[in-house]
Amino acid sequence: MSAMADIAGALGWAKQRIDLMEARVLLRHVLQCPASRLIAWPETTLESADWARYRELVERRVAGEPVAYLTGEREFYGREFMVTPAVLIPRPDTELLVELAVAHVSGMQRARLLDLGTGSGALAVTLALELEGADVTAIDRSREALWVAMANAARLGASVSFVQSDWFAGLGEERFQLIVANPPYIASADEHLEQGDLRFEPRTALAAGPAGLDDLAEIVARAPAHLEAEGWLFLEHGYDQASAVRGLLADAGFAAIASWKDLAGIERVSGGRWLGRV
Ligand code: GLN
Repeated sequence: MSAMADIAGALGWAKQRIDLMEARVLLRHVLQCPASRLIAWPETTLESADWARYRELVERRVAGEPVAYLTGEREFYGREFMVTPAVLIPRPDTELLVELAVAHVSGMQRARLLDLGTGSGALAVTLALELEGADVTAIDRSREALWVAMANAARLGASVSFVQSDWFAGLGEERFQLIVANPPYIASADEHLEQGDLRFEPRTALAAGPAGLDDLAEIVARAPAHLEAEGWLFLEHGYDQASAVRGLLADAGFAAIASWKDLAGIERVSGGRWLGRV
């Protein structure tokens, strides 16, 4: 490895170590430039500080750190969200929750929505921006996550009320027309927790008891006390949990129970409607 490099040389060096797409994302991050510049000006010499910084990021990626934590951002529903290791990295699959929420409250005046376990705030901020006039509350147990979510709301100009709470515990009597959650749902002994990006993400945002259903069960059981009559609950869950979650919803007395498929054709979200007050 030479003391100096141009864009083409830096990418060539990185390509032998990590995925080329990721190598480009990291170089754009260091140079704060659009993708077109990497293509149009491959012979541009990197400042030595940039080249050193780039080598460091590539080495950290080789050691497994997720690209989103290295760049500090990830796109969700067409917007850039700040992410830190205090929050789960937003996944494209979770956009399904946005689509379902938007479809179920559009037309409602001043709909009140709740995002449980907001993490980066990706869901709450997106819903506040997509649904004009909606009143969005976001809760998380983690103070560090709430800082990230608040920063995202401020950066993207979304009006969201944030509450630090362990699920519904800190909410009082409040009721909502729609509740969404992407809770932890991985079985605590699942080997995937020791692989790839998951190793670096907050364990409390991922693992949920022996079958991964502990938090889903708690949310379903407590949601009726926080839903208006005819309000909706939509939950993201694991690839093999749809029928278990539909069962939880049925046991809790929900109606119109259904599951929806993610981009890979896997049932990823289940939900239902609460018909009456408790
Ligand atoms: N979808 C994530 C994964 O399987 C898990 C997210 C979660 O537990 N909420 O990688």
